Parts: sequence; structure tokens; C-alpha cells
Amino acid sequence: MGGAARSFIDLRPEVRRAVAYLDSQDAKEQIRQTIDIVDLVGGYVALRRQGRNFVGLCPWHDDSRPSFTVNQERQSFKCWVCDIGGDIFSFVMKAEGVEFREALEMLAERAGVELRPSHGSGEGGENPFDRKNLFRAMEWAEGQFHRCLLRDPAAEPARRYLADRGINSDSVARFQLGFAPLQWSWLKDRGAEAGFNPAVLERVGLLIRNEDKGSVYDRYRGRLMFSIRDVRSRPIAFGGRILPELVKDDDGGGGAKYINSPETPLFSKSSQLYALDLARDAVRDEGGLLVMEGYTDVIMAHQHGVQHAVAVLGTALGDKHIPLVRRFTDSITLVLDGDAAGQNRTMDILDNLLALFVENEVELRILSLPTGADPCDVILSQGSEAFRRLLANADDALQYKINAVTNGLASAPGTHRAAQAVEAILATLARALPAASATSTALLRQEQVLSRIGKQFGLTVDVLRDRLTALRREKRTKLAAAPPKPIINAVADPNQLLHEAGEDQGGQIAAESRPAARPTAWDREVLQLLLHHPERAPELFAAIAADDFASESARMAYAAIAALDAEGEPLTFSAWMNALEDVKAKSLLVDCDEEGSLKSTADVDLRVRDVVGNLDRRRRDVVEQSQIAQFRGKQFAEPEREDQALLEFYRMLGQKGPPE
Ligand code: ATP
Ligand code: MN
Repeated sequence: MGGAARSFIDLRPEVRRAVAYLDSQDAKEQIRQTIDIVDLVGGYVALRRQGRNFVGLCPWHDDSRPSFTVNQERQSFKCWVCDIGGDIFSFVMKAEGVEFREALEMLAERAGVELRPSHGSGEGGENPFDRKNLFRAMEWAEGQFHRCLLRDPAAEPARRYLADRGINSDSVARFQLGFAPLQWSWLKDRGAEAGFNPAVLERVGLLIRNEDKGSVYDRYRGRLMFSIRDVRSRPIAFGGRILPELVKDDDGGGGAKYINSPETPLFSKSSQLYALDLARDAVRDEGGLLVMEGYTDVIMAHQHGVQHAVAVLGTALGDKHIPLVRRFTDSITLVLDGDAAGQNRTMDILDNLLALFVENEVELRILSLPTGADPCDVILSQGSEAFRRLLANADDALQYKINAVTNGLASAPGTHRAAQAVEAILATLARALPAASATSTALLRQEQVLSRIGKQFGLTVDVLRDRLTALRREKRTKLAAAPPKPIINAVADPNQLLHEAGEDQGGQIAAESRPAARPTAWDREVLQLLLHHPERAPELFAAIAADDFASESARMAYAAIAALDAEGEPLTFSAWMNALEDVKAKSLLVDCDEEGSLKSTADVDLRVRDVVGNLDRRRRDVVEQSQIAQFRGKQFAEPEREDQALLEFYRMLGQKGPPE
């Protein structure tokens, strides 16, 4: 097929990114031909033949009847319940919780296929700073620290410390704990012996350069070493804890209780979680993730069978953690130490956090431990069953906020503090559920909260809703000068309350990203025609632009096949899958492949005419929809017209009025 008459097809950089690795198509194709999906999946799931397919229990949901199908002929899989499908690459991404590139590397290794380096590094010779070499250095160091802890006489204080704290030898092995002796060049000297370039050890944060002397020395001295690993269990950083016995005046570690690796090419503390590699299976079984504050909390939890626990790495839970977490779960419980400082810090970021989690459809619950206790203490002193009981009673984050600000106020409506509490809750709500991205669930949630606080404080829902709208408008226009009139005059300083709610970033995140549209029937029909009737592709290409699709996945898929065609490649299912990386786009394609194969081939003419014929109308509709959305945004910005806008909105949702 030629490339005529389709220069308009959308290949902007962001769409083109989806058309991945066109130059590494060969390697992917080779891998695809070497590895049979039935063998691959069979390593994870017991499969048995059923007709032309293989079936098994889905590894990703609690499956009692086999809903997981593998189609050997198409080399695809599908779970009907999870509504996810794909090829060998998608399967490894999902099963191993890795990005595409890592899945590619793992499968290449299995297939014995050589890959070219991903970022054009080390051309014509080995680059010592290649990620592979950095990983090798970290793995080596982990082994050194670990063996030292197990065997070296110098590690005696560390072994005593672990015994005192009740960390057993299984945990030492499972977490690859280690010890770095109290010396300036213990690791450096061993590195030299083992042939590691000191610049490499410096790059991964193990050595520190002294600019004045032009020399390097060990970062970790006299410390218990916690190995921080990625989801594939490769060490990427270390946390080093000071040992009480070894605290000496001459220790150059600055005496900080913990020293963590700096940011390196392998490690970014705000996007990693400690022990996620060890927690992932339990996360699936327990249906959620526990995020704690410290290494020792996680170790103690795992040691007592609470294995879905991870820890943040000296930062707060934030937006950079979301992509990582979303690969494994959509439910998080944040476990907070019972210290006032930590809880106040959490209250400061809670509004941001809520907005972030609502936007990403991740459920967030918060367990705040009794004063003075951290999870390690609770589990050691009361056992894991008591800890699990606390977990079961964790509040969802919005409720946590409400409890925190209304603490002990339930019976005192009309007071100054009650007004402050109402104000703070509404500010949170304005952040967490911005009107601009209101979905029906978000709106239901809002009405629930309003009715609850209305009852509690003796206010009508209308008054509360007005105030909420005013706060949202305030947030949008960012008019710091003229704060909206507070509901109850007793509120002393609404500015301060607004400030407390943290006005700067989160709202924008939520307002700007529109909800991801699902593929429409039209989206799917076009893809099905391309899949099962590629001979009709020229007509479709000539008429349809990538922007005509409602969903991002369909756009990516369309851009990929258009690119294949432009390269003169055959438009087959496997070539198309091969050209795509995005898990959702591939899943959509597998879906369309199956659905399309059930359709009769008799009325193809009619179907092509249908999808192409409706185009003008579709394009008009798209414009209209976005106008409605804008209009609705304006309505919400004017309080006096908000009721009308809300009614309109409920009408669109197919309800007669607000839920009770
Ligand atoms: P332990 O039980 O050994 O006293 P912990 O894990 O309970 O330690 P906390 O003092 O509760 O430690 O701190 C929680 C986490 O915060 C630590 O695991 C560590 O990741 C981080 N942290 C604490 N102190 C520091 C510090 N001085 N520098 C960097 N990170 C730190
Ligand atoms: Mn702690």
C-alpha cells in the first residue's frame, strides 16, 4: 500500500511516541516469533485447552471460573472480567509490573535476542555509565554489605542491634540487610579490587567526592544498610541507619539517624517505594497497599505476615508515586506514625493528596496510630492481629479530614470553631472534587458530604453548596484580595483557612486533565474494519483523522497502523500489535480483534459507508460537546445560576434531581 493522500494523519510527536520503536520492530518481531504466549502465560497460570483457545484462572482478580483466555493463533490473551487483553509484552508488563522497555528486555533475554541499547549510549564501545553497569555496581555493593553483616566481626554491633529490635534472620535475608563498617574506604578499596571504576560508584551514590582533595570516600560508614530495590528487585539505592553503639565523634556521617542515597540515574526518592518488590504479590492478594513511614515498620510488618506494606523514602506520598502504585492497585492505606509533627505535615498535604487520588481514581484511606507509636511498635507490642484490626477501621481520607477538623465539635454548631471546621472541610472539598472534572460519582460524593456536615452543624445543604461554589470560584480566579463572604460570621480569618487548604498546585492538575474518554462504538468499528478488512484501509485512511476518535487508545492505535501503512508494512494484527506499546491501546485492539471476528463479512460495504458517512455529523458533535462543557464551567462560576446548572447536570446524568 502506498502512502498517498494521508499527509494529514496525525503524527505529532506525542502521538508518534505511541508508534514505538519502529526501528526495533525486527527485534520485537523476532521475540514474538520465538516465544509462544501459551508457554509464557503457562509459567504464571495453569492453562488448559478449550476449543481453539486455552483458559485459566485470571491472575489479576479473584477468579473462580476460568475467565482468562489465551488465543494461540493470534498470540493474544484476554480476561473478560478485568477487561484487559494484550500480547506477550503486555502480559509481562502487567504480570511483572514493569514498563514496556523492561518487558522487552526480559523477553529478549528469554528469547535469546540481542537488543540495541535504548538511548543510543555507548556507541562503538562500552559506556561505563550505562544503566546496566550502574545496576551491576549496586548489586555488587548490596552483596558486600550483606555478607559483611552476616560474617564480618566488625558487624557484631549491627547483629546485636537487629537482635535487640527483634528483626530475625529471615528478614535479614528477605530484605538483604547489610552493614557498612566504620571506615573511610572500606567499599572504595573493595571496589578497586573488584575492578569497579570509582566514578561509577560515585555516580550511584556509594562514594562521595571531596572536591578539595580530589579524592573519593565511602558515603556509608558504621551503618546498618537497607537496600532499596525497584519492582524487579534490583538495588537502586541504600538507606543507612546509624548504630547507637558506633556513634563516635569522628564519624563523618554527620550523625544523621538515616543517610539515604542521593538522586542518581537509578534512583529518585519521590517516585520509589521501599520493598514494593517484596510486597507486590501480597498487594494483589490483600487488594491494597499499605504505605508506612519507615524501613523498620515495613520489615516488622512483613515479618509478622503483613506483607502488603511498603514505605516512602523520607518524602511524603505524592504525585510521582501514583504511576508506580497504579500498576499494582487502586487502593492505598497511608499508615501514619503517632507523632504530632508527622500528622500535622499530613494535614498540610492532605488536600493536595485527596485531589490527586480522586483524579487518578485511587482510593485513599488513612490510619493514624496512637500517640507515640509507629507500626513497628504496634506490631511488636500488640501483634499483627491488633494491627490488622486498626487497619480495618482506617478512615477514608475525606472522612479523616472531617474527623480531624470536627474533633469533639459535633454538639456545638454555631460556634467559632464549628465555623472554622466547616470552612476547612469545604475548602478540602473544593480541592478534591473540582466542579470542572465532576463525574457522577464525584458529585454524589459531594452531596453526601454536604448533607452530612449540614446535619452535624445545623446548616442547610443549599448554604453549604453556595459556599463551596464560591470557594471553587475563588480558587479558579485566585483573587487573594477579596475572599468570599464566609457562611457564619464567626469565622475569624477565612484567608488563613483557605491558605491552610493549600491553594497552589493540586486544583490545576485536576481542572486541566479531562477525564479519559472510553472508546466509542464508532472508534471500535473503525478499528475492527481495519483489522479484519485491511483491503478497505485506503478509503478509511483517506477519510478519517486520528482526532476523530473519542478515546486516546483508539487514536494511538490508529496512528500506529497509519504509520505501518506509510512504511509499506503489511497491515496484520501482529504487525499492528508490534507497533504499539501502550497497554490500553493494545488491549483495545485485542478486544476489537475478537469482536470483529464475530461480525459477518457480508455487509462490509455498508459498514465502511456508515463510519465514513457519519463523519461530518460526528465532528459537529465533538465541537458541541466541548461547548457544553465550557458552558457548564461558566455556569458553575456564577453562584446565582448554579442551581440551574446543577439541574442541567443531573438531567444529563439521567436523574431527576440531586440524590438524597
Ligand atoms: P527506627 O525504627 O530505626 O528508629 P524508623 O524507620 O522508625 O527508624 P523514623 O525516625 O520513624 O525511622 O523515620 C522514618 C523514616 O524517615 C526512616 O525510615 C527514613 O526513611 C526517614 N528518615 C528518618 N530520619 C531521617 C534522616 N535524618 N535523614 C533522612 N531520612 C530520614
Ligand atoms: Mn518510625
